[in-house]
Amino acid sequence: MAKKYVYFFGGSKAEGRGNMKELLGGKGANLADMCLIGVPVPAGFTITTEVCTEYYKNRGKLPKELTKEVEKALVRTEKVMGKKFDDPKNPLLMSVRSGARMSMPGMMDTVLNIGLSAKTIPGLINKSGDARFVYDAYRRLIMMYADVVMEKATGFESKDGHTVREVLEHTLETMKRERGVTEDTALSADDLKQLAEQFKVIVKDRLGKPFPDDAREQLWGGIKAVFQSWNGKRAISYRRIESIPDHWGTAVNCQAMVFGNMGESSATGVAFTRDPSTGDNKFYGEWLINAQGEDVVAGIRTPSPLNRATKTEGTMDHKSLEEINLKAYKKLDAIRLKLEKHYRDMQDIEFTIEDGVLWMLQTRTGKRTGFAAVRMAVEMCESKLIDRKTAIKRVKPEQLDELLHPMLDPAAEKAANVLAKGLPAGPGGGVGQAVFTADDAEAWSKQGKRVILVRNETSPEDVHGMHVAQAILTAKGGMTSHAALVARGWGKCCIVGCAALHIDSRSKTMTVDGTVIREGDWISMNGSSGKVFLGQVGVLPAQPDKNKWYKKLMGWADDVRQINVRTNAERPEDAAQALAFGAEGIGLARTEHMFFEPERIIHVREMILATDVVARREAVMKLLPFQKKDFLGILKVMAGKPVTIRLLDPPLHEFVTLTDSQVDELSRQIGVSSAQINTRIKQLHELNPMLGHRGCRLGIAYPEITEMQARAILEAAAELTKQKIKVFPEIMIPLVGHENEFLNQEAIVREVAASVEKEYKVKIDYLVGTMIEIPRAALVADKIAKQAEFFSFGTNDLTQMGFGFSRDDIGGFLPYYLEKGILPLDPFQAIDQEGIGQLIEIGIQRGRSTRPALKIGICGEHGGEASSVKFCHRVGMNYVSCSPFRVPIARFAAAQAALEWPRTSKKAKSNGKVKVKTKAKGKKKSKKK
Ligand code: ADP
Ligand code: MG
Ligand code: MG
Repeated sequence: MAKKYVYFFGGSKAEGRGNMKELLGGKGANLADMCLIGVPVPAGFTITTEVCTEYYKNRGKLPKELTKEVEKALVRTEKVMGKKFDDPKNPLLMSVRSGARMSMPGMMDTVLNIGLSAKTIPGLINKSGDARFVYDAYRRLIMMYADVVMEKATGFESKDGHTVREVLEHTLETMKRERGVTEDTALSADDLKQLAEQFKVIVKDRLGKPFPDDAREQLWGGIKAVFQSWNGKRAISYRRIESIPDHWGTAVNCQAMVFGNMGESSATGVAFTRDPSTGDNKFYGEWLINAQGEDVVAGIRTPSPLNRATKTEGTMDHKSLEEINLKAYKKLDAIRLKLEKHYRDMQDIEFTIEDGVLWMLQTRTGKRTGFAAVRMAVEMCESKLIDRKTAIKRVKPEQLDELLHPMLDPAAEKAANVLAKGLPAGPGGGVGQAVFTADDAEAWSKQGKRVILVRNETSPEDVHGMHVAQAILTAKGGMTSHAALVARGWGKCCIVGCAALHIDSRSKTMTVDGTVIREGDWISMNGSSGKVFLGQVGVLPAQPDKNKWYKKLMGWADDVRQINVRTNAERPEDAAQALAFGAEGIGLARTEHMFFEPERIIHVREMILATDVVARREAVMKLLPFQKKDFLGILKVMAGKPVTIRLLDPPLHEFVTLTDSQVDELSRQIGVSSAQINTRIKQLHELNPMLGHRGCRLGIAYPEITEMQARAILEAAAELTKQKIKVFPEIMIPLVGHENEFLNQEAIVREVAASVEKEYKVKIDYLVGTMIEIPRAALVADKIAKQAEFFSFGTNDLTQMGFGFSRDDIGGFLPYYLEKGILPLDPFQAIDQEGIGQLIEIGIQRGRSTRPALKIGICGEHGGEASSVKFCHRVGMNYVSCSPFRVPIARFAAAQAALEWPRTSKKAKSNGKVKVKTKAKGKKKSKKK
């Protein structure tokens, strides 16, 4: 059978289904779905994403059969709507809308009112009895069509740098000024008619072609432009950020127009079935009387709230839909409940009221802040709309990040200077230097600066700048404006509709009540209250445990999680923070940081510079009391939980990078001549320090170091054990590639342990294990595991050495790799499962082949990244370890992994002593090979 390219929907019928998003795009599938569940939707049809694919394959040619299918669906649309396309008496107008599989807000362009021409205009005026409405629709059509179809889709670039939309908008503004009015709605039929004529002249003048005065030419122009816009600059840049594959393509929805601009009994609006910022179960939306299309989102007029319950200070004097048209409001509210029940999730909806009659134009799963995501998941579960599994799966681990993010310090806020107040569109605190264009935001943040992007309103052209900004501030727009939507999707602090700001983007300044803020000036924002402050306001750490929904959800997650989550920390304060976030141990305590404190570094340098064993030993042992104190602190905080301590790792010369005066001072302190010191420093210089004298190679060359560190750890453990404090130190030998390296170091540790146990007369519960971070170690893991009691995958180095990428120099080439799609992701952020992942799987499998109970974890940066955590669960690790602030994210990702790939055995106890079977039983286990 030939492919079906066009799917009709209308009345209570539809050829498509809600689950056909791949073919019909999200919008098309849901339009069909809404028809089927009896929600009023203007009739129309969806052209499939396959046509988009063919369009590109055939270099901009549409399949032949398409024309016929479109004409057939058009006839069905006409029948349902009781009007005819291109009919001089009772013309049907159409909208042409894009719709990819995943919603890409504002990325693709919509053309409304298609079908207005010299032939149909008189008929529509006659039929509607409203010339003003018809010319309003007409001038809108010309602007959208010129912009989307004639300019953007063709890649037209003007000589003066202005877009045709800008010029037309300017013309509209000029007319409003001349007529002495501020709102579009105050222009008369004659004004609008005249405006349309001006528009047509400008279009022909600028674009070299007339605006087509033919309904079918408009329709096909619109359809092609949607396909063309899939490869527009904005769409591509959004796809990169959101990792949407290029080959998906977009569908096109052609739909009968309903009119929100037909006078006072008409309106248009957008809404969320629950509050998308807080998650509160309140119907939340914005609407405008006598308006069309994106007027609400574009911030042309300040929209009004839907109901009394969601009025704010700024909208108190607005009339809500509930107050003006209770009947329509009640209908809309009923649809809201119906849609939530049907989709079992919060929906983002678009509606239009034409002369009192309500029509739904779109529904999709709504973007939400992390706060809202958590609260809604819990509340929907408690009201039995979804089950626990769904609640856990629905929140993205990264969304928790927001709840863990700092807020402005309320005390500091009180003292600070409030600059202005806007709508709180994205929560959390933001502090940064003001910049006024997206390009500046990008350039400044590349220099490591923290910026806040300030705009009148944002558009899809700004997404790159919005992405890098700490926070986004706009003078215009409502809670459903582009800025608000995008910021919420990313969990970014955002304030919109801050009317007091007078932004002059040309001079890169803004004036607020006489105060001038220039580019680079610091401002702070509270995205939860909408307040903007002058200067840098102090921030407070997040306190997620005060959030009852978060606590509940994390509790559910911990119930299903099957691996442990530890933290990377060496300072007791950090360890305590991690404990508060739910850490079950320490997976990596680095000891080198402990060496840098002023009173210690001198002994470290002395040790390094020593020329004979006796002197070195003496210097090293001076460090013992310091190290022991460190370990006492950290083992005590982590009482009852395992603590992995890594022996000294970095290249030695890092400790002796000294200026001349520092050399002289050191010389005085340790009584070695400056010349001698300099010679020794030169000797230590390495060409490739990351592959040089570091890791266990240090302890092999200078066994005193290992001995001292082992003693510090074990004496601390012995002391605490005597005090009946349970401690489980795990001593980790870094950078092992050959089992003999391990054996050499292990022998030292065991010998120290034996003597400490004898001296203190206690048995210490300790392990000796190794990092697996050199590819060779993964390959000979069976040999290493004969002696090593645990493995911890150091995936930073493993990635570095597996790829042969220098971590420190990656900035030079990785951006090209990502831009050209050579690598899908930065492998230092998310584990490269295909390649480096194999090294890990081999390491685990060989290691456990000689020691089945081998305890295995990960301590690289990846341990806090959701996709990597899931990978670690799948390959049978016992735990992941990450920085304190990532601990909740790792806990949550691990829970999701357990739901997706359940293991047969129970979770390990927090000291990791319970065996975890390595074979994951999940169905998808082998998929990733
Ligand atoms: P986006 O993907 O940017 O949301 P849409 O295709 O939803 O674009 O169109 C934008 C707006 O245009 C809609 O919110 C709606 O207000 C208006 N619109 C689209 N189709 C119609 C129609 N058939 N009748 C009336 N308004 C429409
Ligand atoms: Mg749009
Ligand atoms: Mg839409």
